[in-house]
Amino acid sequence: MPELNAIVTQRIDFAPGLMILRVVPDGWELPEFVAGQFNVLGLPATAPRVADADPENPPPKPDAFIRRAYSIASASVEREYMEFYIVQVKSGALTPRLFALKVGDRVWLGTKATGMFTLDQVPRDKHLVFMGTGTGLAPYMSMIRSHLEGEGERKFAVLHGARHSWDLGYRTELFQMQRLTRHFAYFPILDDPSGEPVAWKGAVGFVQDLWKRGEIEKAWGFKPRPDNSHVFLCGHPLMIESMKEILVAEGFALHTKQAPGQIHLEEYW
Ligand SMILES: Cc1cc2nc3c(=O)[nH]c(=O)nc-3n(C[C@H](O)[C@H](O)[C@H](O)COP(=O)(O)OP(=O)(O)OC[C@H]3O[C@@H](n4cnc5c(N)ncnc54)[C@H](O)[C@@H]3O)c2cc1C
Repeated sequence: MPELNAIVTQRIDFAPGLMILRVVPDGWELPEFVAGQFNVLGLPATAPRVADADPENPPPKPDAFIRRAYSIASASVEREYMEFYIVQVKSGALTPRLFALKVGDRVWLGTKATGMFTLDQVPRDKHLVFMGTGTGLAPYMSMIRSHLEGEGERKFAVLHGARHSWDLGYRTELFQMQRLTRHFAYFPILDDPSGEPVAWKGAVGFVQDLWKRGEIEKAWGFKPRPDNSHVFLCGHPLMIESMKEILVAEGFALHTKQAPGQIHLEEYW
């Protein structure tokens, strides 16, 4: 059974079942990483689960160790802690255990970050469109926290889809970035604004609708096209499928190691 080699130093709950978790290695150095990459968190099956989780059927073996991948949300230059943006899957194996963690508790943190969902293969003169649903925002937080400053004339757009306004994590930070940075635009959109305590005045629909309605063009003054922009897609597989279709029809191509293109994907499940 691996040693729980890291300590939870901060936890910020945006809403029930949606949190930021900051962890610090205990006695070893945080791994270097490229913004957009992911790391792994793990806990033993014997770790407590939150009370509102669904019963496990079948429960994991008592000697099992549960590990899952999480995009790193902190900046690559942040050497104090590693931050993750996590949603609870009530029927899940690991997340009901992660949501039972308190500040000071121990967790297993991978010693190496990995992943190709980074800006490494994007030419410096291309603008960037980041589209995400739910916690699919996490890798973009790392990318903009790491790269927004000093990127010259490169434009950044973050399109974030969630169900309710309280599920729009990092909203304050993103609005602040938009106010302070001329070349950064933030587009939140809700697909179910019916239960809002105060009527939602923002966009309604799915992130794909923001693209179809030309919202980026309105903010940037020109349309993101394959010759001037790269598009990143992260989160729900249905959003990724639907955006892929839309983009390919507009002449964008999927990026692979072998064949460079302008569409970059990170599927969470
Ligand atoms: C490269 C990569 C990066 C990831 N980064 C993140 C991240 O930053 N934040 C995060 O919350 N999750 C992230 N995930 C998903 C994460 O690895 C787990 O799958 C998730 O936390 C559920 O784990 P679990 O053991 O509780 O559920 P499991 O028992 O493993 O159940 C998996 C099921 O949970 C659902 N699910 C998984 N992830 C999500 C999600 N994010 N939102 C809604 N439903 C989901 C799907 O229906 C999936 O089939 C990432 C996955 C990958 C592959």
